[in-house]
Amino acid sequence: MPLRPPLVAFHPKGPRPPQRRKVYCPACRHGFELSRRAVTVRCPKCTAPLAFDDLQLSQRVEGAVTTMGHVVLGASSSVAARLTCGMLSSAGRFEGKATVYGTVTLEPGSRTSGELTARSLTVQRGATCDATVRITPDPGPPPAPQKRTLAQISADTPRPLHGLPRVVPRR
Ligand SMILES: [Zn+2]
Repeated sequence: MPLRPPLVAFHPKGPRPPQRRKVYCPACRHGFELSRRAVTVRCPKCTAPLAFDDLQLSQRVEGAVTTMGHVVLGASSSVAARLTCGMLSSAGRFEGKATVYGTVTLEPGSRTSGELTARSLTVQRGATCDATVRITPDPGPPPAPQKRTLAQISADTPRPLHGLPRVVPRR
């Protein structure tokens, strides 16, 4: 039986220091820091609107997913998509084209095929990666059209009989 961490381990009492994250504007390639809680901002340099929703995907997702936040593909996920994101961790199946302006982590049990462009890639033992991989400090501008948001993910996804795919914003 796996050990469960205590539920309170990551919620110490008292004010927490503001969490910052380094993000990247795909439109003008400007890097800047952002509060971890911020979800939509305009790039301070080129004023392009950027969404930073962190998404946890499970079940089947098709279409286009774009966020400059962290996308987590759960072990039961099966994602066939044009994925553009700030960071990607996968324990599930991905098939498609992914452009990641940060780190990709392929976890044990994950299966990845298609095309993967990222700033860095970690393939853990037990992962299957059958994708065309391009690692570069500058993944380039996002593909157009790319004004897809969280709401459009469900709109793009055929409704399975057992309900909508679970798309859980992570904070
Ligand atoms: Zn910009």
